[in-house]
Amino acid sequence: MPNFRKLDDLGDVAGKVALVRVDFNLPMQDGAVTDDSRVRAAVPTILELSAKGAKVLLLAHFGRPKGARDASQSLSLVIGAVEKVLGKEVMFVPEIAGDIVKQAIGILDNGGIALLENTRFWPGEEKNDPELVKAIAANGDVYVNDAFSAAHRAHASTEGLAHVLPAYAGRSMQAELEALGKALDNPEKPVAAVVGGAKVSSKLDVLQHLVSKVDHLIIGGGMANTFLAARGVSVGKSLCEHDLADTANAILDAADKAGCTVHLPYEVVVSQEFAANPPSLRTCNVHEVADNEMILDCGPASVEALGDVLKTCRTLVWNGPMGAFETPPFDAATVALARMAAALTREGSLVSVAGGGDTVAALHHAGVAQDFTYISTAGGAFLEWMEGRELPGVKALEI
Ligand code: ADP
Ligand code: MG
Repeated sequence: MPNFRKLDDLGDVAGKVALVRVDFNLPMQDGAVTDDSRVRAAVPTILELSAKGAKVLLLAHFGRPKGARDASQSLSLVIGAVEKVLGKEVMFVPEIAGDIVKQAIGILDNGGIALLENTRFWPGEEKNDPELVKAIAANGDVYVNDAFSAAHRAHASTEGLAHVLPAYAGRSMQAELEALGKALDNPEKPVAAVVGGAKVSSKLDVLQHLVSKVDHLIIGGGMANTFLAARGVSVGKSLCEHDLADTANAILDAADKAGCTVHLPYEVVVSQEFAANPPSLRTCNVHEVADNEMILDCGPASVEALGDVLKTCRTLVWNGPMGAFETPPFDAATVALARMAAALTREGSLVSVAGGGDTVAALHHAGVAQDFTYISTAGGAFLEWMEGRELPGVKALEI
């Protein structure tokens, strides 16, 4: 795990200005925030800095305004939600640099909190323009990055600032780095990875990286069909990337060489149409899928066997559902495997880390999200970490 400065390393910050990068890219519908979990994730860092007497200036992006002001993507739209979660008043500042920000700092009491405007209103943000970095930094004393989910981007507020101000990981960033480090950088072995989801093409780099890292690679979801087809199994009209057969075989060969055991489903749930509880639903051996059928989930016996694999493991990394879990009963394998992983985690025999938009939704659906050791909500950054890439926003915090 990279070595980075934490809030514990912060000296006396009373009266100083902390520029804090958070992820307030909140989902909204009809003008209302529909999920405030990203705000909740930032609360410990904000309140800790505020309690230490720092003037806390929050930096965040919101949507994709492409370098120009756009009232419909102003961070002023989320300030009510932020105040509600924090239980404190938050000043809104319609700039990210310059005199207006300076004046705001003058008005703020020690411990006061302000939310600056959407960083992406300025073209220099996504270009990581040194001039913009300098201008933002001019109003700050320290930089705290608490947005792991934006750390795969080298932008002014996610990367640039860390080079010009004393830089620290916030509590949520710290928790994420520690959990991910425990799962892949320095895990207790044996390690299992579950990789599922729709397509091999979206997770090629993940698969390639994992075969060199883990002892067991469990492949499920639509992407398993591509591997089965590559091995000569006829998968009927399943979602399948037939053009990736060579790639799939190369991954299987690489796994073999690296001593990684790949687990593909040997028994599957199929139907002739993709609908909830279809009349043509049946469970069969992978070699018995008819031309007019599609594989939509792993079968119960396959899942049972995978549970036995997890029982021998000490660490689990999970990205991607085992089946088309949004449509019943094709959630069964994902739910069953998630519950087995959760039970092993509760018993203390497994460290379990999961991430990915649909994966997190599936674990909540299975009712076990709270039992996993760590759930990353970071989407793109989580996947890039699973690909073994260095995240620029994390790298910049290293000491
Ligand atoms: P994540 O967001 O967690 O990274 P993905 O986006 O890669 O996950 O994959 C999730 C999607 O994969 C879900 O919408 C699910 O319905 C789909 N999926 C999983 N298995 C199948 C399958 N056998 N056939 C079709 N779609 C599938
Ligand atoms: Mg997804």
